[in-house]
Amino acid sequence: MKKAISRGIPFLILALLTISVATGIDGYVSIKIMRIIDYALDGNMDLFKKESLEGFILVGILLPLNILVAITRGLYINKSLVKSKIYYIDRIFKKNINEFQGENNAKYLAALTNDMNSIEQNYLVGIYGVGAGLIRFLVSFIVIASVSPSALFIGIGITVISSILSMLAGKPLQKHERQRTDLFEGYTSYIKEVLGAFQIIKANDLNDKVKDDFYDKSESIQHKGYIIDRISTYIFASQQFTIMMSIFLTFMVAVYMAIKGSITAGAVILIVNNMENMFFPLMGLTELFPKIVSVKTLFNKMDESLKNHDDYKETLELDDFKSSIEFKNVSFSYDDNQVLEDVDLSINKGEKYLIVGPSGGGKSTFLKLLRKYFNPTRGEILIDGKNLRDVKKESYFKNISNVEQQVFLFEDSVKNNITLYKDYSDEEINLAIERAGLTDFIRGLPNGLDTIIYDNGKNISGGEKSRIAIARGLLAKTDIIFLDEAFASLDAKVAKEIEKTLLNLEGVTVVNVSHVIFKETKDKYNKVFVVKNKAVL
Ligand code: ADP
Ligand code: MG
Repeated sequence: MKKAISRGIPFLILALLTISVATGIDGYVSIKIMRIIDYALDGNMDLFKKESLEGFILVGILLPLNILVAITRGLYINKSLVKSKIYYIDRIFKKNINEFQGENNAKYLAALTNDMNSIEQNYLVGIYGVGAGLIRFLVSFIVIASVSPSALFIGIGITVISSILSMLAGKPLQKHERQRTDLFEGYTSYIKEVLGAFQIIKANDLNDKVKDDFYDKSESIQHKGYIIDRISTYIFASQQFTIMMSIFLTFMVAVYMAIKGSITAGAVILIVNNMENMFFPLMGLTELFPKIVSVKTLFNKMDESLKNHDDYKETLELDDFKSSIEFKNVSFSYDDNQVLEDVDLSINKGEKYLIVGPSGGGKSTFLKLLRKYFNPTRGEILIDGKNLRDVKKESYFKNISNVEQQVFLFEDSVKNNITLYKDYSDEEINLAIERAGLTDFIRGLPNGLDTIIYDNGKNISGGEKSRIAIARGLLAKTDIIFLDEAFASLDAKVAKEIEKTLLNLEGVTVVNVSHVIFKETKDKYNKVFVVKNKAVL
């Protein structure tokens, strides 16, 4: 994560350069003010006019410059955030499918919303604040030193002491901030679950339970916010007191020096003005540093969520599928739950396989092994003699199509949902549509292939979804098609049609997991495997 964010550094440098120029001019203006006062008190009209005019011009220049400061600051924060988000999304899609599915994906949601927000507020704004604060501090330091080094010495003493005081005052806040972040994460995942379960909640009259739960969770977050606000108020009050005290002390010291004749009246104003400019940045640093440091745990958490725990190095490429996939003593378990044991079988190129068996018997698991979503716990799967474990995922996935029971549809046109954003000729698309039994469906749509599918296909039926998924598989023209209960929501007539199409695909290997079995088509498969009692026979 840190590396991704550091790509915004050039923009940070630009922003800090801009603010350096603006702060420098600001400091120079305060010297002008000192001179204007002193010349005025001396009754030196000519120099008074000259300094006033120059001061006026400098203040004029500050206006566009300060706008530039705001723009470059925004640019830095914006670029850094966008780069981090892109990096994060990119890395999510590098996760192994099984590891992604095994986790609650609310944490990715929280990372991209709450956590990115914290990174913006605490880290990016913080780092800029530290940079800008140091520049202001340095400029004021130089300005005061140029007038009275001894005033500087005393001023720094006061500033350091009060900064330490306010830093100590801010300590209790950190623990609560951390707890609030954790609460928010739970809250996000809860809301996601509740919205996802909308139908079940309505249909089973669970509204009251949800309301109670929701109340509890919201309440604990609000309460934490209340505690933080209360502590913040105390801290703020004590810090205000320290600031007032310090400014007052500085003022007294400066006036005393003026009375003694070691500085001019103008210098008193300059010192007081610039002391504030040393003071507030230093106070700011004590607030910003803990915030910046607190993001470190966030970075670790985000990096951890992106890590693949199985980082086995895949080395082999697979151009195309030539002859066979062989299971050799393959066993597979989910933790302690052994699903398959010592499976030995062969799947040959171009042949068609039907996989049947009782629910929960392990059919989908068998298919997941074939799809390389999982690797066997024991034994090996060889594809054209190569160990599938060693074949690079991307390279294998290019050779296979998956038709799942749960079809995901993008909020986009029917056409893009079938082509999955790849280029195909109209003839190819139409052929796939026809073979998947979608011709009548598409003819009936208001805008044909350009009709938009909404919210994962809420405006089309389950059967139509399955057929779109089947059309995807046919269109991709891969050597291997895996289907998992793809016909479950189709009526028998359509299912039989599509099954016939699949069985007639020359050279294409089809593995069809289904509990819908038709007598007419069953015999056309080269082999029917039964998955039962941990065996595939
Ligand atoms: P089928 O597709 O034949 O209905 P599955 O392969 O889905 O069967 O499931 C086989 C067994 O593995 C079941 O006992 C199921 O509870 C378990 N199982 C399936 N998926 C997972 C998973 N991701 N994590 C843990 N156990 C699982
Ligand atoms: Mg299944």
